[in-house]
Amino acid sequence: LSLPETEKTGNRVTVFVRVRPISKKEKEADSRCCVTIVNPRDVYLTEFVNPNGYLRLKRIRRRHFTFDACFPDSATQQEVYSTTTSELVEGVLQGRNGTVFCYGATGAGKTYTMLGTVESPGVMVLAINDLFGKIKTRSCDGNYAVHLSYLEVYNETGIVAAGLTQYRVYSTDEVMILLQQGNHNRTTEPTRANETSSRSHAVLQVVVEYQVRDAAMNIIKNVGKLSLVDLAGSERALATDQITLRSLEGANINRSLLALSSCINALVDGKKHIPYRNSKLTQLLKDSLGGTCSTVMIANISPSSLSSGETQNTLHWADRAK
Ligand code: ADP
Ligand code: MG
Repeated sequence: LSLPETEKTGNRVTVFVRVRPISKKEKEADSRCCVTIVNPRDVYLTEFVNPNGYLRLKRIRRRHFTFDACFPDSATQQEVYSTTTSELVEGVLQGRNGTVFCYGATGAGKTYTMLGTVESPGVMVLAINDLFGKIKTRSCDGNYAVHLSYLEVYNETGIVAAGLTQYRVYSTDEVMILLQQGNHNRTTEPTRANETSSRSHAVLQVVVEYQVRDAAMNIIKNVGKLSLVDLAGSERALATDQITLRSLEGANINRSLLALSSCINALVDGKKHIPYRNSKLTQLLKDSLGGTCSTVMIANISPSSLSSGETQNTLHWADRAK
């Protein structure tokens, strides 16, 4: 059974949820787990109250959400990569554009999912490894060139390059070094490291160009672009009513996240006009959202009742993006 072409190329956003393991701090604070994944697609969020400081938290409400897939805290980086992103990597090799975002509050697991650690590399690293592996097996079909940029969108006044920009790379090792440098740059100011990474968007863009000859020996050039985005903490996006001059920087971050929400909502609602020009982030991604592009959203959440407010906001946002 195949869908008509218009439906297949429609602007559906694929939305996933990933729950991170409960942290030591959350355990020590005696928090409860408020997130339950009952099957691969359904997640429940339980709201607790602590009336009059009783020892036992009281369960008051359960909310239900359905997504394309929900990853429990036991999901591996490879599982998350294979389910969310590997198809997009294949698409890029066929000249299509795709974007994967990690959305969620600070501390919910966005950077772990996108970048990961040396022992458990995340989506960015696994995607590039996969891409180079695939190019290696196909290089007899044509000439491939890969350009890579790792950018930090820190506020609307400019895009700060964290690492090298539009660098031509040919090996996975070079890419690893570039990514590590980029993320290192993102956190070089120790006192502001958390602040900075919770306010900035880290954008890895991989452009794959390749040339093939058709039957008449004409050279055909194809270009595909993959954008992988570790978004700023979503907690600030919700405080937009309280914008003051003092929080101009925060307001700018809000602008990019808000602009992204508007674009995604416009795409999902099938609007003709998509307001890409409203922020640096959406300008940067305007050829990578909508149309025939594949868009994937990974909503990162904490399982702890301490964060249930943020989790609820994140799940509502993700639900709206479907
Ligand atoms: P964010 O980027 O959303 O602010 P992080 O990715 O930095 O959050 O995650 C916060 C902490 O939780 C980090 O110490 C990170 O290593 C850990 N963490 C997040 N997700 C996972 C996971 N799936 N498995 C193990 N540790 C995780
Ligand atoms: Mg982070």
